[in-house]
Amino acid sequence: MSHIASIRARVWNWTGPTVPPQGHFCTNASDALRETGDAMSSFRFHQWLTCEVETDDGIVGIGNAALAPQAVKTAIDAYLAPLVIGADPFDYAYIWEKMYRRSHAWGRKGIGMIAISAIDIAVWDLMGKLAGKPVFKLLGGRTKEKIPVYYSKLYADSIENMQKEAETALRDGYTAFKSRFGFGPKDGMAGMRENLKRVEAAREVIGYDNDLMLDCYMGWNLDYAKRMLPKLEPFELRWLEEPVIADDVAGYIELNATGGTPISGGEHEFSIIGCKDLIEQKAVSVLQYDTNRVGGITAAQKINAIAEAHQIPVIPHAGQAHNYHLSMANTNCPLSEYFPVFDVEVGNELFYYIFDGEAQAVDGCIQLDDGLPGLGISISDKHLKHFNIHE
Ligand SMILES: [Mg+2]
Repeated sequence: MSHIASIRARVWNWTGPTVPPQGHFCTNASDALRETGDAMSSFRFHQWLTCEVETDDGIVGIGNAALAPQAVKTAIDAYLAPLVIGADPFDYAYIWEKMYRRSHAWGRKGIGMIAISAIDIAVWDLMGKLAGKPVFKLLGGRTKEKIPVYYSKLYADSIENMQKEAETALRDGYTAFKSRFGFGPKDGMAGMRENLKRVEAAREVIGYDNDLMLDCYMGWNLDYAKRMLPKLEPFELRWLEEPVIADDVAGYIELNATGGTPISGGEHEFSIIGCKDLIEQKAVSVLQYDTNRVGGITAAQKINAIAEAHQIPVIPHAGQAHNYHLSMANTNCPLSEYFPVFDVEVGNELFYYIFDGEAQAVDGCIQLDDGLPGLGISISDKHLKHFNIHE
């Protein structure tokens, strides 16, 4: 029987070329601040964390996390790793519970839960490798021939550029598209019109037989969102994402109750009970937890059961192997997010540079290999020269 012998957390700082975000880009929570400087700083992250969990017989499971990796590394090294070393990886539920309860006073949400997630994902990769099975086969198996994905980019830019991008994506075979709002409360009525023009322009290209979603990334407030919702109704959005800050659950409940446009969110919510509240209170019509924040695959799979019981679809935030394995194994995960492979911009793209084996979309779908054990990814050595790695 294998036991966990060591945990190695590394911070990857991207030093390679980046492209500046285009146009108005995307509203975000920092828009409400007084500083007019780089409002995108809360959105941009050019760092990543990898977490390698190794057994005494030399098998390595790989986990990762994207937010605040330096702080997450400290939480893993100083507090969580000592709790996990020596455990049988197949005792994953107990390992999770031990990390959760021993760090409960400080770790329930944010950094603490991101650190738990990184270790938990690595433990699942490890179990897959030890069992010789892909992770989705340990979670319930194949529920779909392949996973339909939505094209997640279309940041707010000139209408001409956005339409060109949408045309290319449509030609590439996508049937679902997510765009970002570039204007929020501080831009007044004129900004509202700019927002609506771009939604109309996107519909003009993709038509009404394809899915269109819009993301606010927490850059609006309740008042603004209430004024926008009736104006958005004619565009038949599949969902409106994160209209208000993650803590304003009452705001989500109120907006979702209006009924015209389904409200989605959850990528900044943590843990089983946090997501249970969103589901039970009907704060969202689509739940979008991020597996590398919410508590890893162990928590995500429990949340999936709660969401399924309430008939709320789960469409995890971000692409990445760990999310795809969950989507493959759950009938209630009808679609996945997909960041089309592009140059490094906000940082969403970095995992393509850190890992080999991340799925690439073909005709608007991704596929997982039935014969590849674990999550099917490995740490790449192709782009090492563009990273400054902190052990
Ligand atoms: Mg989002």
